[in-house]
Amino acid sequence: MKREHAVQAILFREANLYAPEPRGVVDVLVVGEKIAAMGKGLPEPNPLPTAVVKLEGRTVIPGLVDLHVHLIGGGGEAGPASRVPPLSFETIVRGGVTTVIGLLGTDGITRSPEDLLAAVRALRERGLSAYLYTGSYWYPPVTLTGSVSRDLVLIPEVLGAKVAIADHRSAQPTPREILRLAAESRLGGMLAGKRGIVHLHVGDGGLDPLFAALEEGHIPISQFHPTHVNRSEEVLSQAVEWARRGGSFDLTAPPADGLPRLEEAFSRIDAAHVPWERVTMSSDGGGSRPRFDADGYLVAYDYFGVETLWEAVRYLHTKAGYPLERLLPLVTENPARILGIPGKGTAEVGYDADLLVLGEDLTIERVFCRGRAFGEA
Ligand SMILES: [Zn+2]
Repeated sequence: MKREHAVQAILFREANLYAPEPRGVVDVLVVGEKIAAMGKGLPEPNPLPTAVVKLEGRTVIPGLVDLHVHLIGGGGEAGPASRVPPLSFETIVRGGVTTVIGLLGTDGITRSPEDLLAAVRALRERGLSAYLYTGSYWYPPVTLTGSVSRDLVLIPEVLGAKVAIADHRSAQPTPREILRLAAESRLGGMLAGKRGIVHLHVGDGGLDPLFAALEEGHIPISQFHPTHVNRSEEVLSQAVEWARRGGSFDLTAPPADGLPRLEEAFSRIDAAHVPWERVTMSSDGGGSRPRFDADGYLVAYDYFGVETLWEAVRYLHTKAGYPLERLLPLVTENPARILGIPGKGTAEVGYDADLLVLGEDLTIERVFCRGRAFGEA
């Protein structure tokens, strides 16, 4: 059921705004779904009914853009009982995520892109901004319409394609196959007016197949966005080299016990002078976190929601001392720019009014998705 809302305005008084760059204490006027004005001492926009939210210097940031979420649940590596349940709308919003990109994981057989698309549309009806990648771990890709390019052209919610490389659960795609997928995604993206990114799950084997694909073909490095590159020191070193050649990459926010290792990953990225504009971070929410022993047997199994994403930012700020204005682009502006999602990732006039109000210790107090307030966390 679609809910219709009369246009109304919200006037945030005295927000300490990070857009994500710091803008100081300003008022932010939201009209309908968009940010209409920003500045000091804004007047109420007569005759629109206006809700005034007095923030008294509380921090306001753009809503998070989480580019890797198993919306309908991932997993299944330990049989049907290990399929991860779907993520609820409430879980996602409570995690501060206002734009979410859904995908399929290891299981592209009992999970389908059709099911994923339906989940994306359900979230949209409730006010979240949701998209998906076509494909799954597998190659040739599972698609909605028969090909990756057709999916991109014909399905507005499809932003790109997903595939897994260098993983024992992947189809072991060759560089040529990776190139074919990227060519399809690039062409479909062009025809649809999208970026058509190929989002690559990178396994323990690392980025070798991707480097080989880059050398073999004529696809620009900006077409690829590999993820999970903080899974080991070796893979992270390759990602640093990838960025040196102009590529971008995604880090996976770990659960609490992995945060010190994430901090180390950031020191290494910094030490290598990788520009942070090329780096994003996502939650892998709803995905399984299986651990296999040396013989390939499953020894442990777990999964998380999207809350790990904001927890990682909080940790890196409060424990590792990185300034907010450096961290926020990783989860707002950069994913929106790299994936090509218009109106997202930045708190600017004309952009969507996806805003988070933060409390003490950077807890998420209030979430606004396209100008609508959601359940106080
Ligand atoms: Zn995943």
